[in-house]
Amino acid sequence: MKTRYALSLGKPFGIKVKVHWTFIFLIAWIVIVSLNRGLETPQILMHVLFVFALFFCVVLHELGHSLTAIKFGGNVTGITLLPIGGMAHMTKMPEKPKEEFLVSAAGPLVNVVIAILIWIYLALFQPVNLEEMKFVAITRENFLVMLMAANIFIVVFNLIPAFPMDGGRLFRAALSIKMKRVDATRIAKDIGQIFAIFFILAGLFINPFLVIIGIFILLGAKGEYEMIQYQDALKQFSVEDVLNKNFAELDMEDTLGDAAQKLIHIPDNGFVIKSEGKYKGILTKNEIINGLNNLGKEGKIKDAVNTDVEPVKPNAKLFDVFQDMNRKRNYLVPVISKDEILGVLDIDNLKELILIQRAIR
Ligand SMILES: [Zn+2]
Repeated sequence: MKTRYALSLGKPFGIKVKVHWTFIFLIAWIVIVSLNRGLETPQILMHVLFVFALFFCVVLHELGHSLTAIKFGGNVTGITLLPIGGMAHMTKMPEKPKEEFLVSAAGPLVNVVIAILIWIYLALFQPVNLEEMKFVAITRENFLVMLMAANIFIVVFNLIPAFPMDGGRLFRAALSIKMKRVDATRIAKDIGQIFAIFFILAGLFINPFLVIIGIFILLGAKGEYEMIQYQDALKQFSVEDVLNKNFAELDMEDTLGDAAQKLIHIPDNGFVIKSEGKYKGILTKNEIINGLNNLGKEGKIKDAVNTDVEPVKPNAKLFDVFQDMNRKRNYLVPVISKDEILGVLDIDNLKELILIQRAIR
């Protein structure tokens, strides 16, 4: 998910934590529900404070996943808070069943620890009599009891085996001990989708957030299964096995009119742009169209070129590069070794390769 419209909250352990703009809906929903129930302002503020405390626990949950993943060589780019929960963005995930199991378990375990700590605190300093306590609204008296209950709820809910939720990941990791990861993922995905449909149907009657969670599970399961299939198809290749040596190149000083004219004659998604023999950037159809709109036909390529596309090495693993291209939406990347452009990788060609590999099996 793109998190451009997100507010940065800090960088604990070097991991960026952001809150997505749609979080406003959650706060608005809580205020509206509280108002409908005729609650007074101090109590509404208490509810909002509770949500902040709860999402602080969610951040700790995601940090549990993230730090465990990093320990096993994974790569975490950040954590985003959404109204339905947290999400750790991993560009590289540990794949050994045991490691994946521990990474998935670490999040819920954090909430178990939080619940136990609250329980100990309550037992020592604030003994509660559950029979006398009222739970109509969150108050100063029941705040910690409710927070403890919410953490237990997070644990139980996350352990539902609805891949890609934590429980589903634990299930997949357990299956992958006995079978291929791609097959384990397919089974976990199918079960996840059954749960998702159940969530959506139940949510329509109970709670709109359950509907959103169901949709997230449906899309997440599908997307992740696709990626695992791609990985299975590409795992035997490195970049040099499939790079396209017949690529089209243009110079920084050439015009966008030149590029537009040549575009229909080239096999790839765009051009490699050079200056004095050195790689400078990539010019795809999108940059050409935007450039023509802003600068006209006489506009120079150097004012429209995308210089953010980093070259890849010929010995890089093809799947890693493919995944990176998808994430960064780079449709064309140059393959460079010792300043020499050896060829390009085009995302459409890679998708064809995947189809062929899957057909062969
Ligand atoms: Zn989790």
